Amino acid sequence: MSHRITEAIRIRTESTDVREHSSPVYFTSSFCYDDAEQMRAIFADEKEGYIYSRFSNPTVQEFTDRLAALEGAETGFATASGMSAIFASFLAFLKKGDHLLVCNAIFGSTHGVITKFLPKYGIEFTYVRTDDPASWEAAIRPNTKMFFLETPTNPGLDIVDLAAAGALCRKHNILFNVDNCFATPIGQTPMDFGADLIVHSATKWLDGQGRVLGGAVLGRKELIHEIYLFCRSTGPSLSPFNAWILSRSLETLDVRMERHCSNALFIAQQLEKHPAISSMRYPFLPSHPQYEIAKRQMKNGGGIVCFELAGGLQAGRKFLDGLKMLSLTANLGDTRSIASHPASTTHAKLTEQERAAVGITPGLIRISVGLEHRDDILNDIKNGLA
Ligand SMILES: *Cc1c(COP(=O)(O)O)cnc(C)c1O
Repeated sequence: MSHRITEAIRIRTESTDVREHSSPVYFTSSFCYDDAEQMRAIFADEKEGYIYSRFSNPTVQEFTDRLAALEGAETGFATASGMSAIFASFLAFLKKGDHLLVCNAIFGSTHGVITKFLPKYGIEFTYVRTDDPASWEAAIRPNTKMFFLETPTNPGLDIVDLAAAGALCRKHNILFNVDNCFATPIGQTPMDFGADLIVHSATKWLDGQGRVLGGAVLGRKELIHEIYLFCRSTGPSLSPFNAWILSRSLETLDVRMERHCSNALFIAQQLEKHPAISSMRYPFLPSHPQYEIAKRQMKNGGGIVCFELAGGLQAGRKFLDGLKMLSLTANLGDTRSIASHPASTTHAKLTEQERAAVGITPGLIRISVGLEHRDDILNDIKNGLA
């Protein structure tokens, strides 16, 4: 199998005696042994074998192997959600007295973990600007152990320079950890830019139909072994059922993303000059402030489009009420297009200044562009803008 997308389709758990074509789900919490010696050897890590589904499970392994293949990673560990993947990626490597460098525009719950929980464990952090790589090095301290970032950012679609971050991390011997949720491995593979760890919320594009929660951490064997040790003790493991759903989804990820991204580019181009929109943001529009970086590190512009309504906060609420087809929901990466207004929903608890600091303006609308016909998506957004 010479192409990654072929591996994402063809890698599978061992077939059973009935030789089913599609992989079964291994609904089992534990696994059996032939005799005391086999059991002893597997428990002693002398022989490979399954023990308990909190540690590993064939269905979960199939999903992890497929995702690792897509990312060009040696291996991975799958978790119950994106947040548990992110939390494990911090706690498996950071200890009391360590310092985390992190880009300031990151997913809200990740911000919550860093600011509310890491300090309880004595882990320090510094936020740096996503758009100013020159300022990052000055924030590095002797105890800095990890640089964490997300690109494109949720919801503002900032693009962070992966090559600059990778070079900095190599120079200072820091773990480079990337949340690749928005781009997916079809859109970008951060390992090519020196990432040591990749974290995913599989809940979004990887599932692609808004059905299940899931997450994963990918990387080199010795790093993922630390994630495994942390998770097998603390228990945020992915359920076999969710893994089965997600594993099937990876078979269509490449073709789905192609359509999500071409629809998104179409929407962004068609609406860029709309009078109700004061600015349009899409990584593959030349007007995007980090267009050059996006073109360098991404294979497509992704499935999310953001725009600023000229009318601000009130216009944002009116826009949602004017939609007839797009769903009003917090998820993204679904077959069905979704509209959200962060200032009045997901980020309403922040002050206006806090929102501004992470690029969330009062009239910001985020569209997760689905797989409906592009003209229907465009017409409904026009309904909202009218
Ligand atoms: C949704 C999301 C997460 C968290 O994933 P869950 O599966 O909801 O726990 C992390 N990072 C980004 C960028 C996200 O969009």
